[in-house]
Amino acid sequence: MDESAFPSDIIERLRQARRVVALTGAGISAESGVPTFREAQTGLWAQYDPQELATPQAFRRNPKLVWDWYAWRRALVASVSPNPGHYALARIERHVSEFTLITQNVDSLHQKAGSRNVFELHGNISRVKCFEEDIVMDDWTEAESDTVPRCPRCGGYLRPDVVWFGEMLPPDVLRRAISAARAAEVFLTIGTSGIVQPAASLPLEAVENGALVIEINPVQTQLSSWMDFCLRGPSGIVLPALVSTVWPDSTRE
Ligand code: NAD
Repeated sequence: MDESAFPSDIIERLRQARRVVALTGAGISAESGVPTFREAQTGLWAQYDPQELATPQAFRRNPKLVWDWYAWRRALVASVSPNPGHYALARIERHVSEFTLITQNVDSLHQKAGSRNVFELHGNISRVKCFEEDIVMDDWTEAESDTVPRCPRCGGYLRPDVVWFGEMLPPDVLRRAISAARAAEVFLTIGTSGIVQPAASLPLEAVENGALVIEINPVQTQLSSWMDFCLRGPSGIVLPALVSTVWPDSTRE
């Protein structure tokens, strides 16, 4: 990507900013091979709509189906690596005194790329929790092939520790995300369609508080009209070029 392509306003504001926030969505992991929910699914799962599986109602209806779909996604994310977009965000953290990375993703790829200050709005697929009591666990014993593992405490079904459509976000993480968005001098919204609430309202909090807001996405989204700048392209290309332009001395991974 032509590094002279970035408007000087973006370069100067990022260089001077003490508080920068990035909000990421499924799009940043697409180049690592993790499909977004809006892309066509492949293979075994092609006949299912992920938005119909990622709900408490779907789990109640057919726990085994939902458990197996998440087991497949868990294996998928464990087998892939961060891409240059994830690494570029980890580089920003080294240059900005307060950098907050808010992600809607559940795949740990930001942490694997070296990002430290990560707020996971929608949980993490590597953990499970009890469907009845909400107690979170890192380890569990797999069940017989025709059923779902059970909570060792109460015997309820175990489910992935992710936030499903229609569920509340972890209140403390959301509160800290809102406060970071309000304090941001520059806010980057990356690889998100801006449809899933309340994550989609975070860039608007930043707009209302005078931040420079920038979208990185190959296509227009519901958030585009609020942005000061829209950088059209895949985040794995745009972000490394942007970081190298703003901080030319930063090392490329
Ligand atoms: P989303 O609503 O965040 O939409 C994906 C966006 O990414 C789209 O606007 C698309 O244009 C954009 N995009 C695609 N490729 C891109 C690229 N290379 N660079 C930059 N942008 C790109 O995400 P969704 O798929 O609708 O998922 C909704 C929710 O489901 C998420 O908020 C998340 O909780 C969960 N989810 C997580 C993962 C993950 O952890 N990797 C994957 C799928 C879904």
